[in-house]
Amino acid sequence: MKGIAVLGSTGSIGVSTLDVVMRHPDRFRVVALTANRNVARMAEQCRLTRPSYAVMADAGAAAALRDELSDMPAPPEVLAGHEGLNVVAALPDVDYVMAAIVGAAGLMSSLAAARAGKRLLLANKEALVVAGAILMRAAADNGATLLPIDSEHNAIFQCLPPDHAAGLARGGVERILLTASGGPFRQATAEALSAVTPEQACAHPNWSMGRKISVDSATMMNKGLEIIEACWLFDTTPERIQVVVHPQSVIHSMVQYADGSVLAQLGNPDMRTPIAHALAWPDRISAGVEPLNLFEIARLDFEPPAPERFPCLRLAYRAASEGGTAPVVMNAANEVAVASFLDRRIAFNDIGSIVERTMDALPAESVDLSGLEHVLDVDRRARAIAEQTTAAAVA
Ligand code: NAD
Ligand code: MG
Repeated sequence: MKGIAVLGSTGSIGVSTLDVVMRHPDRFRVVALTANRNVARMAEQCRLTRPSYAVMADAGAAAALRDELSDMPAPPEVLAGHEGLNVVAALPDVDYVMAAIVGAAGLMSSLAAARAGKRLLLANKEALVVAGAILMRAAADNGATLLPIDSEHNAIFQCLPPDHAAGLARGGVERILLTASGGPFRQATAEALSAVTPEQACAHPNWSMGRKISVDSATMMNKGLEIIEACWLFDTTPERIQVVVHPQSVIHSMVQYADGSVLAQLGNPDMRTPIAHALAWPDRISAGVEPLNLFEIARLDFEPPAPERFPCLRLAYRAASEGGTAPVVMNAANEVAVASFLDRRIAFNDIGSIVERTMDALPAESVDLSGLEHVLDVDRRARAIAEQTTAAAVA
């Protein structure tokens, strides 16, 4: 029986995680749930899964949750604030931590789980983008097992040789083929892109996801973040990663070997598959996902990406090659710009230009393994500059 903490349980990945976990009461027990402010959904999840702890990052929401659960026979202990996240990520009776908070806000709790030597199921890709070296080292030094939840990276993990930690070249791996759906605007002209609304950007053709990652998919920043994520997870370089636009999202990524073999992982676009894979690994368990019907799908298409229409993809390659703090700056500026776009303060095309101007204003600095404070400081500075750039774009 494995104890589980779900960080970000009220979000899209969190809800899918609880769906899989509840199908296997003989294997998993929910020890802790966390959310930002969504008291109603958290209360519902607490009644359903009976965790020992519930954390609300927002203090007011924590008080409201305590109130809301006061009639429960054995209510969870409710903790408030970001310290609460770090506490539950490291609890002795937590074996697995699902890191499903969105954005750099998930970094410290992901790191806490790695430092506590947990099985870390990592959906929070931004943690790797801003502090990949630090997070990977913390996992290695403390015996944590890091399993990717991002569907592409989970697919790559499944297609790599079992001993890939020893180095991809030794396993005969030549390239990673990272698939991308292309998002809702795959075929849109640059002109059409200037007028898109948050509703259009969040209407992904294949996946139902949180709003931030939906916008990232529409700008293709999501693929950019995933290139950097893959470099850290699989100890490789952007030159060995080929982005392949595959509009059906049936192949979730591929690995090309020296002998010409290409291994792919296929499945319906449903995050419960990678979640179940990482929860049960190396076993396999049911996930509640419909079996793939190849006759219904009938064909699979592939095309090269179009960085001229999707500047965020180009900026991510730039951040990956500059290294150091460049991905921190890119990620922070992107989080600010996406939030402004969702608030209807800026246009869709402003997202890329705000990211680029912030990167220009804060040239990359090198970071060492003890540089967490440095990373957090650069993250704050980049957010301030991106806010100023946003205000200028609005004026
Ligand atoms: P979401 O917005 O649906 O959920 C985010 C969760 O994090 C919620 O529970 C929210 O309460 C919590 N949260 C938000 N801000 C917080 C803060 N400041 N402090 C503490 N908690 C906070 O997001 P999502 O779509 O589930 O994505 C979660 C992560 O998983 C992201 O990093 C995303 O890139 C990644 N991911 C998601 C999908 C998907 O299908 N949704 C696929 C691959 C990767
Ligand atoms: Mg993905």
